[in-house]
Amino acid sequence: MSTDTVWDVALRQLDLAAESLKLSPGVHEVLRHPRRTLEVSVPTRMDDGSIRVFKGYRVHHNTSRGPSKGGIRYHPSVTLEEIKALAMWMTWKCALVNIPFGGAKGGVVVDPGALSAAELERMSRRYASEILPLIGPEKDIPAPDLGTNEQVMAWIMDTFSTREGFSVPGVVTGKPLSIGGSAGRSQATARGVMYITLATLKHLGRSVEEARVVVQGYGNVGANTVELLADQGCMIVAASDVHGGVYNPGGLSPHRMNRFKQEAGTIFGYEGGERVSNAELLELDCDVLIPAALEGQLTEENADRVAASVIVEAANGPTMPEADEIFTERGLTVVPDILANAGGVTVSYFEWVQDLQAYYWSEDEVNDRLRSIMEASYVSVLGLAEDAKVSMRTAATMLGVDRVAAAHRTRGLYP
Ligand code: GLU
Repeated sequence: MSTDTVWDVALRQLDLAAESLKLSPGVHEVLRHPRRTLEVSVPTRMDDGSIRVFKGYRVHHNTSRGPSKGGIRYHPSVTLEEIKALAMWMTWKCALVNIPFGGAKGGVVVDPGALSAAELERMSRRYASEILPLIGPEKDIPAPDLGTNEQVMAWIMDTFSTREGFSVPGVVTGKPLSIGGSAGRSQATARGVMYITLATLKHLGRSVEEARVVVQGYGNVGANTVELLADQGCMIVAASDVHGGVYNPGGLSPHRMNRFKQEAGTIFGYEGGERVSNAELLELDCDVLIPAALEGQLTEENADRVAASVIVEAANGPTMPEADEIFTERGLTVVPDILANAGGVTVSYFEWVQDLQAYYWSEDEVNDRLRSIMEASYVSVLGLAEDAKVSMRTAATMLGVDRVAAAHRTRGLYP
């Protein structure tokens, strides 16, 4: 079994793209390293009066094309290597959809569900305060990721603004609407996944109504993807969260599943189908598999048993390189994360632009602009994959890397 870390995986993907691009060894070497890495301690007063110290990170992978951009993750399994990989993927993602940002990522090693709301607020504000030297609307703009949400962004925005002495909405995106968030941002990642799934089905000549879809993960991205694809007429045959999943070959009702989740806090145990584990879910009979949870889900162990013919990566890094090779041999279509889930950062860009201009757009305007960026990016990735005879992942990475390398070459190496 592969012992590669997620950082090894990110490097391997870069190396493959660099080879196909015939990238100069110097620029390639620059891009193999994060620009700066900050590790912080986050001392937090707990409700019982004790103090716990959490470990946090913020990594800037590259800033050649603009301020760095990327989410903040709260999860017990966060490591520096993981944050470095996620930051690198943000660089390629922003360049691929051609928004003027570099790549960053942050994280805290914590289970947010195990903290009270007050503890979470104190921890988030202290983390924000520790990474303050790195963030700012013209430097580095965080956003939500796994385990964080609008409220956490509001606390970070408030902490930064209080230190500055005035409101700085553009320091984070994915904020609540009441403090400068954008219409459409909360559903944006899922909406992008929906546009890409529809484009893929159309390209393959497959009907949307006949597509049976399985979604792994029921957080912001997974739950909204289920809802949006069901609205388009797809049949959702299985869904899951960390506890496990539910499968019904006749189709699940997203509406009822959401109601169950509101009451039970999980969709595991929802009685609209049979219970399945997360591992079983990945191998269910379906047409489209959408991993929308953690990295490293599709491996050389299970890749042969994946029954879907299309995989749309809503999560970052769900497929290990060995699984990628197996999928290529088997002729599966794998739409890579940096394309499939780029809707989130694209609308983050719209949010930042609106904040800087203090002029806000309608949701229709946001969704229309998102759609045209996602569809154009899909077409360019597909075109390059066909021309260069590479996978869609390598094509997407090539497009991103090429734009970053061009900016780097044009600016020149300091000093
Ligand atoms: N966390 C999201 C991602 O991985 C969004 C990042 C952002 O909006 O800056 O793409």
